[in-house]
Amino acid sequence: MLKSILIALAVALASLPAAIPAMAQTDQSARWSIAIHGGAGTIERSRITPEKDKEIRAALNAALTRGTEILKAGGSAMDAITATIIMLEDDPNFNAGKGAVFTWDKTNELDSSIMDGSDLSAGAVAGVTATKNPILLARAVKDKSPHVMLSGNGADQFSREQGMEQVTPDYYATPRRLRQIENVLSKQVSAADVDYKLGTVGAVAMDQNGNMAAGTSTGGMTGKRWGRIGDSPVIGAGTYADNRSCAISATGAGEYFIRLGVAHEICTRIKLKEKDRAPSQDGQEGEGPLQPSIVQKIADDVIAELGVLGGTGGIIFATPWGQAGYSFNTPGMYRGRATSAEAQSVAIYGDED
Ligand code: ASP
Repeated sequence: MLKSILIALAVALASLPAAIPAMAQTDQSARWSIAIHGGAGTIERSRITPEKDKEIRAALNAALTRGTEILKAGGSAMDAITATIIMLEDDPNFNAGKGAVFTWDKTNELDSSIMDGSDLSAGAVAGVTATKNPILLARAVKDKSPHVMLSGNGADQFSREQGMEQVTPDYYATPRRLRQIENVLSKQVSAADVDYKLGTVGAVAMDQNGNMAAGTSTGGMTGKRWGRIGDSPVIGAGTYADNRSCAISATGAGEYFIRLGVAHEICTRIKLKEKDRAPSQDGQEGEGPLQPSIVQKIADDVIAELGVLGGTGGIIFATPWGQAGYSFNTPGMYRGRATSAEAQSVAIYGDED
């Protein structure tokens, strides 16, 4: 009896739609988009040397180029964002993978998450200490475990079991991050100072099939302790993707992004704008694109609300209609974007396009 009930249940579950269909793209074949970030904070011209400025732009351009190559060739949004984030994790300029910030105990604890907008599958890891590329581990959690989020020792163990590339702690360390933790420890400055964690990385994309994906990776906050976890590995706060609305990756003061559920909040507001959407090509009301200015306003409104709470930072977004953009309330954000309609561009300061 029990067996037949279980079989019936399994059959019923198997018949549920597992996929979130891509939005109709009849007028948009071969349309794709991608946006990336490398952290937000007090990024001003006076604080960055011309050499560093050049180095950051080159790193953003290289990562963006990698993602666009995959999208142009017809690859998936999931593969494009993964490859892009790996490049940024491997670059010591950013607070993810190599170059991650130090905890209060001078260790590195890395957080990462990834989400597939085509079926809402997601994976995340928090406080991992030995995986070279945490974004690959988050993806393995999504694809190879029955869970969404793993943390600490268990996540490290899962990483080893999955054959992920392991590194020793000195791999992550850079002289700059060591200086920062020494400063935090000696002056007892606030670990919440946004500039001490600058450099979280993320990517969002839509591929030619209209599927969307988002991912984020970080070392978190310099001087973090007590197993503090920020927004980056929290699905709905630092990362979210849904084919019906948008893909988001966030950076900034994680506690505020968690409280506002920033990534999911933006996607939900976009989804609820059905009535403002144009008719589709075959005349179906509310099934065409949402105007880019409306999407931008939704993102700006949520970031403004973050500011009211006292939070600083920003997000990158991609929409099912081929738009890729940003919103942030800090003086700058390392960022870049490219779409099938617009040439690749990278920017650092707030006054750049
Ligand atoms: N959001 C990250 C955290 O709070 C840090 C950052 O993006 O700068 O851990």
